[in-house]
Amino acid sequence: MAVLTFRNEPQINWREKENKDRIRHALNNVKEQFSREYPLYVGTQEIFTDKKLPSYNPSDHEEIIGFVSQANTERVEEAILAARKSFLTWQLKSFEERASYLFKAAEVMRSQKFELMAWQIYEAGKNWTEAEGELNEAIDFLEMYGRKAIEIGEGKDLIRLPGIDNRLEYTPLGVGAIIPPWNFPLAIVVGMTVSAIVTGNTVLLKPASLTPVIAVKFMEIMKAVDLPEGVINFVPGPSREIGDYMVAHKDVNFVSFTGSKDAGLHIDEVAHTRIPGQKWIKRVVAEMGGKNGVVVDKSADLSSAAEGIVSSAFGYQGQKCSAGSRAIVHESIYEQLIDEVVERARSLRIGPGYENNEVGPVIDEKAFEKITEYIQIGKEEATLVFGGKSDKEAGYFIEPTIFKDVNSNSRIMKEEIFGPVLAICKVTDIKEGIEIYNNTEFGLTGAIYTNKRDQIEYARKHMDCGNLFINGKCTGAMVGVQPFGGYYMSGTGSKTGCLEYLLNFVKAKTVSENL
Ligand code: GLU
Repeated sequence: MAVLTFRNEPQINWREKENKDRIRHALNNVKEQFSREYPLYVGTQEIFTDKKLPSYNPSDHEEIIGFVSQANTERVEEAILAARKSFLTWQLKSFEERASYLFKAAEVMRSQKFELMAWQIYEAGKNWTEAEGELNEAIDFLEMYGRKAIEIGEGKDLIRLPGIDNRLEYTPLGVGAIIPPWNFPLAIVVGMTVSAIVTGNTVLLKPASLTPVIAVKFMEIMKAVDLPEGVINFVPGPSREIGDYMVAHKDVNFVSFTGSKDAGLHIDEVAHTRIPGQKWIKRVVAEMGGKNGVVVDKSADLSSAAEGIVSSAFGYQGQKCSAGSRAIVHESIYEQLIDEVVERARSLRIGPGYENNEVGPVIDEKAFEKITEYIQIGKEEATLVFGGKSDKEAGYFIEPTIFKDVNSNSRIMKEEIFGPVLAICKVTDIKEGIEIYNNTEFGLTGAIYTNKRDQIEYARKHMDCGNLFINGKCTGAMVGVQPFGGYYMSGTGSKTGCLEYLLNFVKAKTVSENL
């Protein structure tokens, strides 16, 4: 199959009136489809269950995006059977053939770009640019994993001995449980699901309970490209009931999870408890939280550092596991940089994402309460220099909030808040700054702003994280450009958006043929 070289999806030019009109039109159009009911997809069946969960617009308590059928453990059993059955044939298809479904899905996504963005804007509370970034990432995952699967399908040449032909081949693991988060309800759902299926596995997809409708849109796309039934079984439902059930199941071979540290550790424990009848050790791929930070030296370009800090901390309300929730700043530029950061934060408009405000709502009441509690903790631990107020009257809005003079051992410096809260501390040199940066249990993203080559080299070696950005923000890793993922309590260390990620979902088999 001839496949063009991978290119990241080009960005929309929002200055063009036509594009603004298109998104507004899509937003109106999608709104007319609110409150519909959506099914489970199990094998060949679309099932509307009695129990349906409403998905709310986080900007507006009155609005229900849709009602999504909920699976119970019996439905999960059926889904596992369906996945096992379709695995028998799906695993035998060529990598090219499986990749072709991903390429077709990418085409459909492109043709529905504005509409898909509109769903994300309403259901996840994103603004236009955040929704676009995510949509482009979803398309990139399809295009990248399709291509890399074809490469993997070629296997690997090994040393040939006289009369013996040796090859390494990759075969799928079996049935997987895919448990994605709500914060990238399209990109991560797509990336986690298609990486597993393109390598020959079949899956149960349990979308996040807060953002299931956009996941249904993905299912509709996979149906439109005629993906064989039972390859992706769509089973929304409560984590404790069906999530644990599928993770513990003896007929599930692997679990792919993205979400909080606590949920990830719990899943890891459940998955690794071997139960009677289970014939393998389950593989767990987990992408968890972060307490990422931006280190700034006195030699840095201050306005670009301030810009990087603000977008890392407040982009999508700080609800990215890559969010830069700490700034660690050299004392000689400390106050000046804080002034710039505050000034930029002040210019951010707060309000619904569909009106394209820079700061939208946080995802739900639980998140709202947790973040406001951390703001209280911050007030006790440090000095509030900006924001701090919140309002849940119509939606869950929290001001971008900035604390300075934060002790490096305080809670807001070490615990993941997952909201628009930035903690800033002062250091006397960059080595001390990097030591503080490393002083958490996480290891996901980090940034350093400096103009000194020796500091750049020092940071390369000593900033202990999966994704390091030099003179750039620590969010928004692009597929193929910055393969993404961290270690320690941030996850199992796999990197999304590149060939290596696919190796999580295959086993290697060496075949030696005596000629
Ligand atoms: N890949 C995203 C980024 O680089 C973050 C993903 C996440 O929050 O899980 O910003």
